[in-house]
Amino acid sequence: MKQLLLSLRGVKRIYTSGEQKIEVLHGIDLDIYKGELVAIIGASGSGKSTLMNILGCLDKPSEGSYEIDGVSTQTLYSDQLAALRRNYFGFIFQRYHLLTHLNASSNVEIPAIYAGTGNQERRENSRKLLERLGLGDKTEHLPSQLSGGQQQRVSIARALMNGGQVILADEPTGALDTKSGKEVLGILKELHANGHTVILVTHDPSIAAHANRVIEIRDGNVISDVTKTSEEQETDSTQTDGQELHGNIFEQNLIRSFGATFLRFKEAFKMAWIAMVTHRMRTLLTMLGIIIGIMAVVSVVALGNGASQKVTNDISAIGTNTISIYPGKDWGDMRANKIQTLKVNDLDALKYQDYVDGVSPTVQTGATFHYDSFEASGRISGVSEQFIKVKGLKLANGRFFDEEHVKNIAQVVVLDQNTREKFFPYEDPIGKVILLGSLPCVVIGVLEKQESPFGGQDNLEVYIPYTSAIARITGSRYLSSITVKVKDGWSNAVAEQLITNFLTIRHGAKDVFTNSSDTILKTIQKTTGTMTLLVSCIAVISLIVGGIGVMNIMLVSVTERTKEIGIRMAVGARKSDILQQFLIEAILVCLIGGFLGIMCSYGVSIIFSLFVQSMSMVFSPLSIVAAVTCSTLIGVVFGYIPAKNAAKLDPIDALARE
Ligand code: ADP
Ligand code: MG
Repeated sequence: MKQLLLSLRGVKRIYTSGEQKIEVLHGIDLDIYKGELVAIIGASGSGKSTLMNILGCLDKPSEGSYEIDGVSTQTLYSDQLAALRRNYFGFIFQRYHLLTHLNASSNVEIPAIYAGTGNQERRENSRKLLERLGLGDKTEHLPSQLSGGQQQRVSIARALMNGGQVILADEPTGALDTKSGKEVLGILKELHANGHTVILVTHDPSIAAHANRVIEIRDGNVISDVTKTSEEQETDSTQTDGQELHGNIFEQNLIRSFGATFLRFKEAFKMAWIAMVTHRMRTLLTMLGIIIGIMAVVSVVALGNGASQKVTNDISAIGTNTISIYPGKDWGDMRANKIQTLKVNDLDALKYQDYVDGVSPTVQTGATFHYDSFEASGRISGVSEQFIKVKGLKLANGRFFDEEHVKNIAQVVVLDQNTREKFFPYEDPIGKVILLGSLPCVVIGVLEKQESPFGGQDNLEVYIPYTSAIARITGSRYLSSITVKVKDGWSNAVAEQLITNFLTIRHGAKDVFTNSSDTILKTIQKTTGTMTLLVSCIAVISLIVGGIGVMNIMLVSVTERTKEIGIRMAVGARKSDILQQFLIEAILVCLIGGFLGIMCSYGVSIIFSLFVQSMSMVFSPLSIVAAVTCSTLIGVVFGYIPAKNAAKLDPIDALARE
């Protein structure tokens, strides 16, 4: 009993090109039974390929119905049609349509990849099929290394990969020499003998003569349909080799196990990788934008971090918890020099406040220093014995003056490094007497050089007891400033407020202002933060430009590879498979680009450290995580449109492109 397999009723196919509508098939009625070997013949342009594409679900009828095993194709989703192409039909094209960058074995495996067959099984099957078709020694060859006949045999193996219940061969011998053509025909007949249903399109009557049934098409109409009598048939069409139509082909392919999904993802990843490696130059150029963008972002953030860390360190070196008290209302108070509001007794009063750890006045005046034949002008700071503690300074040699010196208005002096270098370049200054203006003082110590971003690095500064400065030099009882070291555990802001209140009450008016080193620190951190933000913005712009570059290249890539997409769809790739492949490709390009960008940024930091000793780039894990996330996002965002375009293609349109 013959089993109806494919059934066309009133099928029309109308192509629209612009305003024009061309009807290529004019209402075809056709039934094809299981196990038949059908030849469709007709002149070139009669509509054979159009009919074949409809039969193979690559194309849809414009009108009429097409039922497969009783199921109307109109009711099927595109994924179900893909499943049919993948598992049920096996397409053989005149021009083979192999993927040029994959070897024979990999080409054969493609339908199985989309079907979710395991690695091992897939490789085994493809090897067996190629062996069966006499290509056992050619599995690693690229299509370009194979003859036409061999390529066609690879494409037959591909058609059989998932079973190939119904073999659709569109002029399979058309591009082959006679000998290879005969071989291919022989294979098709063998497949028929093994139970496959074979539909063969040809314009050669001698080839058609091998079929049990010959259908002739002319100008889109079936003009004859001749079946040989059963005696004439060479084989029993009921014979099968276990390739029964699976229970329900549609349902089976809707089941998606996690394993199969993962496998398809893995394969899509592999294919994306192969595509990238095959087009190395293009991939690298695409990456360039991302590499530069990511490198810029990471480097700038690292540089900003390094800068703010350095500034922070420098400031902590000065002693973070100090508050300076100045006479006047604020910086730049013109009368500040004349305002004489800070007095020595303020100093004594402050000393006993809870929050004060140490306190030192500063009485400043300029003078010319003399020693031996040297002469230079510098600054004299009259300070207390606590100054060195309050300011967090260190002695290079000698000692600082003590309470006794202060009390006794001693003529002792501690030099800074600049002064020492100026006056005592080759000798030990301790014990020498230097003239500060007209005041001779004994050098008792030298301070270490102070690393500070704030001025005063080049001028000479010496420290004497403030009592000496007042009594022996300035003659005034007023102080230039008072510096308070805040006790640990007290916040600067609170201490600042308390000092202001305390002195306001003492003086009966607010005639001083304070400045906390903490606020300086914060201001500087804020400034470097702003800088980082600014440069990061520029870097982000370059990232976006890079992303657009990726999108452009991917769009070109999709156009360039339309044929590949068509082939993949013809052998059963779902739209989602295509989307996935191109998306993965875009993400991979961006991720690898991002990784290279981070590497380059490390390279930059190494070069930077060779030239700039005083600070280094500090990489924060956060900026690196952000960079990686960023490049992935660029891949997704800018890869989506091209990938979507690729997936939207109609299989038949894609295949038609060269
Ligand atoms: P055959 O395979 O028998 O040589 P085809 O089925 O390829 O013929 O084409 C049948 C007719 O349909 C031809 O006249 C061809 O020009 C036309 N045709 C095929 N594809 C398209 C298309 N995409 N758009 C417009 N016309 C087409
Ligand atoms: Mg054709």
